[in-house]
Formats: sequence, structure tokens, C-alpha cells
Amino acid sequence: MEEEILRRTWAEIDMDALSHNYRAAREKIGPGVKYLGVVKADAYGHGAVQVARKLQTLGCDYLAVSSLDEARELRRGGITMPVLILGHTPPEMTRQLIQYDLTQTVSALAKAEAYSKEAEAAGGTLRVHIKVDTGMSRLGFLVRGGHFADGVRAIDTACALPALDPEGIFTHFSSSDSDAPEDISYTMEQFSLFTAVLDALAARGRSFRLRHCANSGALARYPETYLDMVRPGIALYGLGDDAPALGLRPVMSLYSCVSTIKVFDADTPVSYGRLYRTPDRRRIGVLPIGYADGLFRSFSNRLRLWSPYGPAPILGRICMDMTMVDLSGLPDVRVGDALEVFGPHQSANALAAFADTIPYELVCAVSKRVPRLYMEQGKVTERSLRILGQAVS
Ligand SMILES: *Cc1c(COP(=O)(O)O)cnc(C)c1O
Repeated sequence: MEEEILRRTWAEIDMDALSHNYRAAREKIGPGVKYLGVVKADAYGHGAVQVARKLQTLGCDYLAVSSLDEARELRRGGITMPVLILGHTPPEMTRQLIQYDLTQTVSALAKAEAYSKEAEAAGGTLRVHIKVDTGMSRLGFLVRGGHFADGVRAIDTACALPALDPEGIFTHFSSSDSDAPEDISYTMEQFSLFTAVLDALAARGRSFRLRHCANSGALARYPETYLDMVRPGIALYGLGDDAPALGLRPVMSLYSCVSTIKVFDADTPVSYGRLYRTPDRRRIGVLPIGYADGLFRSFSNRLRLWSPYGPAPILGRICMDMTMVDLSGLPDVRVGDALEVFGPHQSANALAAFADTIPYELVCAVSKRVPRLYMEQGKVTERSLRILGQAVS
């Protein structure tokens, strides 16, 4: 079983890099600022429970996920630290939110009222963080322009509801990861609006223990936005444009092994649609990785994977479960050798740019079929085969 996991397709999760990235951010924010690690979407594909356990031992203050299901996965995995649900939870589930000791985002007065009513019925108090929409135009109390006074009043009313504990308040930046002058000024506008809302609430006697807004982009650029807590995601995983400048290290690498090698004559069409035809005799490797594992089909015929001896170009269409590569120039590559999709030779950042997307999408796309190998000091400490819904060893 172990051999099979090792010698097919797998993602390596470098827990030392994760610890390093956490500590680097800690150093940057200083001792007075708390750290919330964003572990939504299975910790950006890295494994939410494993990442959360590591953060818990490192002294991280808070975690965030997108849904109640993700939060329950953490609690089931033994995570006891505070967990904020960033997205919507149906108010009918309030009893569970309280039972699992979770913090719910509240983005409108009507929802606050529904949560408070349900919490009262459950005989408990629901801890909440108020979400303010300062310009992302997604979730949050409207406070822009003519909505300011009504928005502040609505937040104050929500916080005064009997069965809610308004521990925190936050907003989210849309463009904090950009150095373009118009993006810098937009971020500053968002931040000023957020602080104006905080001031207006303070004038009404309303204050919060945890005010937060800094995602990874703001962590890198805007120390003035750290307030009580920062909220990075992609920086924790060592990815994004700011990661190299911050000295962060990518946590995930993706590998697949050559399962078969065949030699084809000239003019042999390869894979679906016969997109590629061998111009001459070619030595071709078949890899057990395809778009169902997270290798984007749009890479067909244009990406190179990395062998220990040099790059191996992908030939023809990437299939659901398999991919062909040219090994003609790499006579030393044998069946069983591992090829890197992304990792030390080809960064996930670079690969995302090549695919005209962001590294977030690339790591989130690594599917549950791909086993995760957790590495510490060069050794595998845990293998997780999520297709079985459990840890393997
Ligand atoms: C995803 C998310 C983050 C983390 O963003 P990064 O760009 O990965 O740092 C922070 N806050 C909220 C509300 C989010 O949804």
C-alpha cells in the first residue's frame, strides 16, 4: 500500500516550510498582533486538519474556514482553537455552531436577528464577527457612500442582540496584492472606510476585541492594517507574488511517476484528438496523472515536467487519468522515476502564470484522489489518502 502511494502520483506537503512561513509572518507582525490562519478549502489543498494541527502547536491564535462542514472537520480532527466561519451558515444550524464552539461571520442585520433568535432558542450565545463591506462587494454590511450612517446603526443594532457575542469585526480587501497606484489607493480607501466605521461605532460606545482586515497582500504591504489580527492564506502556503520577497517557502510539491515507457515510430499520433504526431522515433513515458488529479487540460502539448535529468515536455492531450511525456532526450529516465509537476524546479507561482491563473487555483485543484505526504526534516511523517476519507498511517 505504501509503495503504491509513493510510486504513483502524490503531493508532498513540507511542514517545515509551513512552520517557517508562519514564523516569518509572526516576526513581521510583532508580538502585539494575533495571527489567524486561513485553512478554508482544505487549507488551499494542503490538508486542513494537518495544517491546523501544525498551526495549533505553533501557537497560532485563530483559524478561518468557509463553511460549517469545514469547521466540523477541524473539530473532528481534534482542533480546539477558535475557528471563524467566513461564509454563510443557515441560521437553523446555530445550535451546531454553539455546540462546536465556532465563531460565525455576520454580514447583515436580518441574519444577525435570525442567529440571535436561534441562539436564544438553543439556550446559548453565538460568538460572531461582523463583516463590513468596504469595497469588495461580496458579503458584509453596506457602509459605502450614502450607506454609512445606516450601516453603522445596523451593525450597532446587530451587536446589541441578546444572544450574540460580538467578539470581532472585519473587512476584506479586493486589491491589496497589487502595486498598481490605483490599487494602492483603492486599498487605502477601503481601510479608511473601515477605520471610519470603527470610529463611528466607538462613538456609540461599541468596541471589539478583534479588529482584522489584512490578507496576504496587506500582510506584505500595509503594516498599518494589521490592527488586532492578520488573516493570511496564500502567504502561509508560501505562494503568491509576495512570497519570495517575504522569504516564504512553497509548502506543496506535486509529483507523478513514469508508469510505462514505449518507443513509437515517426508519424504516430498520440492521445485524444491526435493533437501531437511524432516527427521521428520517440521514447514516450506514460504518467498516471491527469486533469482529474488537478493537472489542467489546458497544459496539453505545452507544459514540461521535470525529471532528475532535465525537462520532459507533455505530448498531446492530457487525459482524465494519464499524461504522455517525451523522454527521447532523457535516456536515463526509467519506469518508476518521479517527475515533478510543480515544486523546486518549476514553482506553483510560475506554473499558475503559465496557465493564466493564480497559484490558489492550482493548489486547490489538486484533487482528493492525490495522496498527501506530510514531510518533516526530509522524512514522511504522515500519509493521507483522502479518497478513503481517512488517514492511512
Ligand atoms: C480567503 C480569504 C483570506 C485569505 O486571503 P489570501 O489572499 O489567501 O491571504 C482572508 N480573508 C478572507 C475573508 C478570505 O475569504
